[in-house]
Amino acid sequence: MRARTDLACWQGSQGRREEFAVRVVLLGAPGCGKGTHSEWMKEDLGVPQISTGDILRDAVKAGTELGKRAKAYMNNGELVPDEVILGMMRERLAQPDAAAGFILDGFPRTIPQAEGLDGILGEQAVQLDRVIKIDVASDELVRRLTSRRVCPNCKAVYNIGFRPPKKEGICDHCGEPIIQRDDDTEETARSRLTVYESQTAPLIDYYKANGLLAVINGNRGFAGAQAETREILDL
Ligand SMILES: [Zn+2]
Repeated sequence: MRARTDLACWQGSQGRREEFAVRVVLLGAPGCGKGTHSEWMKEDLGVPQISTGDILRDAVKAGTELGKRAKAYMNNGELVPDEVILGMMRERLAQPDAAAGFILDGFPRTIPQAEGLDGILGEQAVQLDRVIKIDVASDELVRRLTSRRVCPNCKAVYNIGFRPPKKEGICDHCGEPIIQRDDDTEETARSRLTVYESQTAPLIDYYKANGLLAVINGNRGFAGAQAETREILDL
């Protein structure tokens, strides 16, 4: 495995790091475990995890020119156009911490964004190494998405799969019966997944066509998917 310290040493002695950079896009439906995977990859690779939500928040907070434009759209309840998102992404990817690579999480979402990303990387004379799609069967995704429970009284969050309350159906903190929110019902989960599939299908084809797509099996739980990802990235 390529340890972070070795990377730092190597950069220090050689003054080059291009060879060690890892530029990855992570794709996967809600509930696929993308968040958990980007966490360990970020640690292991020593590269930032970059999401559209984070760069939007940062740019708005910092009051950059693009941040101001984005804020105007959001204040009007409009979607921030690709052109603005891509401008912020260009600025983010030019930051020093992204020079050794990055994990893009939830971006790109559309073909124009994917083409824009290729353009930005082209300006930096670098390219994506891999697009990793975490594949999980839709019944399993629905099971995961519907396993959340909340306490209506103290707002504590549980997961009946991997973080259940000590006593079934009862909040650990205040003893109130826990409930399933409307957002977490099977019907909502299925419709979220349908929307996701239809939005990302063209993106999957795009990355399949340029040979970057790697699909890993996320049905077997975290460890299996992690091992497969390590192999794909040659870690
Ligand atoms: Zn409670």
